[in-house]
Amino acid sequence: MNAYVERVISDVKTKHADEPEFIQTVEEVLTSVSPLVDAHPEYEKVDLLHRIVEPERMFTFRVVWTDDSGKVHTNIGYRCQFNGSIGPYKGGLRFQPNVNPSIIKFLGFEQIFKNSLTGLPIGGGKGGADFDPTGKSDLEIMHFCQAYMTELYRYVGPDIDVPAGDMGVGKREIGYLFGQYRKIKGVWQNGVLTGKGLSYGGSLTRPEATGYGAMYYLEQVLKHDGLDIKGKTIAISGFGNVAWGICKKALQLGAKVITLSGPDGYIYDPDGVSTEEKVNYMLEMRASGRNRVQDYADKFGVQFFPGEKPWGVKADVLMPAATQNDVKIDSAEKIVKNGIKYYVEVANMPTTNDALKFLQKSGLTVCPSKAVNAGGVSVSALEMSQNSERLVWTAEEVDERLKLIMKNIYNASVEAAESYGLGYNLVAGANLAGFSKVAEAMMEQGIF
Ligand code: GLU
Repeated sequence: MNAYVERVISDVKTKHADEPEFIQTVEEVLTSVSPLVDAHPEYEKVDLLHRIVEPERMFTFRVVWTDDSGKVHTNIGYRCQFNGSIGPYKGGLRFQPNVNPSIIKFLGFEQIFKNSLTGLPIGGGKGGADFDPTGKSDLEIMHFCQAYMTELYRYVGPDIDVPAGDMGVGKREIGYLFGQYRKIKGVWQNGVLTGKGLSYGGSLTRPEATGYGAMYYLEQVLKHDGLDIKGKTIAISGFGNVAWGICKKALQLGAKVITLSGPDGYIYDPDGVSTEEKVNYMLEMRASGRNRVQDYADKFGVQFFPGEKPWGVKADVLMPAATQNDVKIDSAEKIVKNGIKYYVEVANMPTTNDALKFLQKSGLTVCPSKAVNAGGVSVSALEMSQNSERLVWTAEEVDERLKLIMKNIYNASVEAAESYGLGYNLVAGANLAGFSKVAEAMMEQGIF
């Protein structure tokens, strides 16, 4: 490995010893781009790597809200404006009790290279709060979102920083956040947030975009091996918005999603989540706020495996679409034993670094999340374009663009890995392609 890369990784490990997720992503990305750093000794002269692993700006803020019984709660809000060299900071907000600086920084760092890969002009950012939306009433959610935006509004804007949803933040929360932004600023700037409702500037196909994009990417990967997606069985983890988009597209393309999972276990549906009723039921399950997939098994009479994850299931493709570090080395061993050929990450960083290496060494085609799930943020960027032009594109127009973007992401990754003599390596390729554009922009903009 390049000595400068090694030194920066080691410095991050020392300096941020209490941020394991952030260390993990830095190690993964910088290791991948080592050949690029070899080829560009000028990076070290301006200390590009230490600069790129440090957020341009990151802050916390107090979010105080009152619950339905009148009790006062105080949460920590975060926003990390990681890298703005190729466009306004762009990235979601995550509301989940485990949110901490390490998680926000890992998501922000991934977002830089994901956003760059899309080919669209968006920088990398991320934010959120250690707020638990589970079991909260609609009024409580609204009060929390209003309190959150009351603190955040001065630091965001259509040309500054454009948040969106992530776990715990969907269309409803974006609506409350935007309402408060508009009220405080007294201006019509709907490009400040993406993932909005259609009535005030949201984009058609944004809710489906991450899942659709993942399926378009998978189509490219299968095509490379001379295969058709039709008839393929897909085991996925998760049952949220992204999983829903995957199932919806799978239904259109004739692929079969045979598992879904939640915190309570996983369901196995040998016929596939392959009717409109089943796909729509996923939305109901999510909206119920119960956060369990057993409901699906009860409703459709399929098997439910309490407390388990679907890594032991036989399928053509596995798509972890739940959360970070869900697949550790023991799960990876199970996956290899089961003869899975395609491992397609959909959640952000669902695989530990050792498990990822093991899957690659075992000969699986491994597709990295920063490429696979980039369809979501891509359509967010398309939403920003529509907002700034004050017009609305049809679902077909957005879908066509999304398809093309995913194809370009795949091709750019393949080409980048090949040009550095790494062969067909989609993980390294995505990092190399995403990183090189950001590095070039930073080099051209001077030292700061
Ligand atoms: N949170 C999503 C992601 O991880 C979407 C971000 C966005 O649309 O800005 O990419």
